[in-house]
Amino acid sequence: MALTPFIASLRPNSCNFALQKYLSGMYRTITCGALRIADKGKTVTLAGWVQTIRKFGSITFVDLRDRYGITQLVFDEKETQKLESENVGREFVLQATGSVRERSNKNKNIPTGEIEIEIHSFKVLNPSVTPPFTIQDDTDGGEDLRMKYRYLDLRRNVLRKNLELRYSVTRATRNYLHSHNFIEIETPYLIKSTPEGARDFVVPSRMNAHEFYALPQSPQTFKQLLMVSGFDRYYQIVKCFRDEDLRADRQPEFTQIDCEMSFVEQEDILQTFEGLIKSILKDVKGIDLKEPLQRMSFADAMWNYGNDKPDIRFEMLVKNLKTESEIHLDALKGSSFGVFEQAETILAISVPGAADYSRKQTDELTDWVRRPQIGMAGLAYIKYHEDGSLKSSIDKFFSPDKLIQFADFCGSKKGDLILILAGKEEKTRKAISELRLFMGDRLGLRDNSIFKLLWVTDFPLFEYEEENNRWVARHHPFTSPKPEDIDTMIHNSPVITDKEHYLKHPFAAIKANAYDMVMNGNEIGGGSIRIHQKDLQKKMFEALAISDEEANEKFGFLMNAFQYGAPPHGGIAFGLDRVCAILGGSESIRDFIAFPKNNNGRDMMIDAPSPIEDKQLKELSLALGEIN
Ligand code: ASP
Repeated sequence: MALTPFIASLRPNSCNFALQKYLSGMYRTITCGALRIADKGKTVTLAGWVQTIRKFGSITFVDLRDRYGITQLVFDEKETQKLESENVGREFVLQATGSVRERSNKNKNIPTGEIEIEIHSFKVLNPSVTPPFTIQDDTDGGEDLRMKYRYLDLRRNVLRKNLELRYSVTRATRNYLHSHNFIEIETPYLIKSTPEGARDFVVPSRMNAHEFYALPQSPQTFKQLLMVSGFDRYYQIVKCFRDEDLRADRQPEFTQIDCEMSFVEQEDILQTFEGLIKSILKDVKGIDLKEPLQRMSFADAMWNYGNDKPDIRFEMLVKNLKTESEIHLDALKGSSFGVFEQAETILAISVPGAADYSRKQTDELTDWVRRPQIGMAGLAYIKYHEDGSLKSSIDKFFSPDKLIQFADFCGSKKGDLILILAGKEEKTRKAISELRLFMGDRLGLRDNSIFKLLWVTDFPLFEYEEENNRWVARHHPFTSPKPEDIDTMIHNSPVITDKEHYLKHPFAAIKANAYDMVMNGNEIGGGSIRIHQKDLQKKMFEALAISDEEANEKFGFLMNAFQYGAPPHGGIAFGLDRVCAILGGSESIRDFIAFPKNNNGRDMMIDAPSPIEDKQLKELSLALGEIN
């Protein structure tokens, strides 16, 4: 592109500034984030958006913004008149030339705050209509409005920084995997159903009328085929599509760092990908994690934290006073308290320093556990005061001696508040885990600037699906059982005759050769060693009540491939959006996706999904039925 005459006439002869080489061009000699006091006296040309305009008497101050920062421009009387005659307002695109001078009123909050540009001339490169919200850190726009005008929202610092962070995560990922011999290979998006257990998004085929592609829930089967092809270290930063009801922080399309390796055992995978996450933390956050990641079995995680993605930034471990099979705390034996007597499970946490909670505060906690999302009938508490006395909501039923036994069992110290939940096993465990996180938040123990990682291993291979009285894969059907459990799987029938006691079925004890990586209480990655033997895979389908026909129809290509020498293999996939959100100290993955969907799966900006024309339906040989 030729130098525009305007800028050609203004371009200073020498402007050897930092980054100049990359960022100057036909329109500008420097960006809005680069100038410092040392540049005083230089003539520069900037281009960017008008963030604010402030008039002071006959002169005007404009904050000009680009991706790199904000620079204050000062327009004298003559230039102010020109600004006014051109109706320059917020978000106009300006090109302005002037000289750098020291500001009398310095702004310590921005890097360019010591200087301003005395404008000699400027040009409106493009006008703007008034934006629907202010494009500033603390914007006045609500979420829906900002989603609709996402391209404007992306001009804001926070979102720009989020996308920059995302880019540094993908760059660190590629660097690490490349240096470990991984090769990035793309796999198709128009495929057949994949096995991750959610609903597929489907795409009708025009050329094959009445037939549909499914969008991949993950590249799982393809990456396994690549192992059969001999690409022993594969990765891909890839979009996955799952048509799920969108709970608070899910997106129908999201990105995985998807990886697979051949000739590996679980230990190889754990070490390789522990290396990846450490490398990302180092490159992106400057944090050098030297220690190996902690490892915890699924059973221990459930026992001590109530869930399989424990937040280990703080202790407050769950204490199991009574479980389905056993009373662990003697003080409970022979009590006259019906609720505890009848409960399948009694679990407690000891909250440090909360013994002085008022009645109002404990009532609030009771309301909290009674909310439908938690669903408990009530909450019992014991206040273990600093002076050693105990005050409890259950002291009608338990003498002070017994309450001390509770406190000792829970490892409580003077000053602690013991919170106790009782009820059905699954619900109570889930509730205590939520309560623990809630109290962790309240006490400020979940600090987003620290990153605590661990591996969770030894998951059950199967989960019981009550509705259909059958086993389903907890991970996916290609996950291998632990070597020591293969015999149990081969020699037992999957049929569940005693629904009530399904946990006593031998399949309930089979462990998966699978692992999850957990960071700050979020599952950020998960994978497994795969089944690579045709017969074991067949047995797996049988266990999952997938008929030969169905298996053949859905995954026949993989089974066929396995006849041609499949190497032992395994892999993992990380949720890139989630990793970015956690590293960015945010709860929401949406803030780390350039163009996300809302909770109804809608893209508010382009207004999708939307109806298609009759002509398109006809071409696809489709007709629309009643809406469900
Ligand atoms: N495909 C799996 C998932 O999306 C990950 C894996 O097993 O590698 O969860």
